[in-house]
Amino acid sequence: MRPWVPAFDAELRADPRLALLPGRYLAAFDDGRGDVAGLGADVGLLALDAGTVALLLAGADTGLRAVPQDAVGLALAATRAFLDERARQGGTAWRLAELSAGGARIAGALGGQRAEPVPVPPSPVTGPAGAVAQSDGRTALVAVVPLGRLTATQADLLAATAPTDLQVTPWRSVVVPDLADAAAAAELTAARLVLDPRSAWLRVTACAGLPGCARSLADVRADASRAVAAGALPAAGARQHWAGCGRRCGRPSGAVVDVVATGQGYRIGSGT
Ligand code: SF4
Repeated sequence: MRPWVPAFDAELRADPRLALLPGRYLAAFDDGRGDVAGLGADVGLLALDAGTVALLLAGADTGLRAVPQDAVGLALAATRAFLDERARQGGTAWRLAELSAGGARIAGALGGQRAEPVPVPPSPVTGPAGAVAQSDGRTALVAVVPLGRLTATQADLLAATAPTDLQVTPWRSVVVPDLADAAAAAELTAARLVLDPRSAWLRVTACAGLPGCARSLADVRADASRAVAAGALPAAGARQHWAGCGRRCGRPSGAVVDVVATGQGYRIGSGT
């Protein structure tokens, strides 16, 4: 499905009407392994087998099917139908899931035969890290970016390392695909990118905190970084989100321990 992404993107940029899409509109194209289909994207494609692709809307299977060559066209038709339905419902919805019966209405507007919908697999809460073997024998390096903040030096290094494109993942990592081997891993690690799948950085997220947010009671990024470096994460290193106040901006979905600044320290808890 790799060619689907630039094909979808090219059409998005070529059609002026699609510039009306809300900034949060998300497309997820899944080759069948189930890593992104469960992210609840507004429009999604999920390969069911080598010749069949399912159309997902707001993360649920519509029952509409396409052959791989027509899958991007179906996703684009659904995207245009979303804009029509959004306009009918007042034009303020940011996400397809905010529309009343949005998935059903859009699928109905597209028409066509429907198969029995399949369950959509849940997405993993953390992604891979390190060297991953591609199906064509080449190697992809998956570099986790601590707290999702890429420095200019790291960005330059990733760009210089990539023989083709770079892929930014939903798990705060950047993939360098199509490498002959994993030799570049040492240089990426030396630049403080994380290629060890056991690293605590795969489980730690944080809001902006001080000095970026005036509401924050602590420099949560610095404190979280110190805790990772010292091997002293709270909650025995469980998946955790550090926040400068009770709003907990950027909290990932799924089971996660909250580490919330109080002004005197941090309150550690889960789900409250
Ligand atoms: S959680 Fe609080 S401190 Fe952190 S970015 Fe949001 S408002 Fe600011």
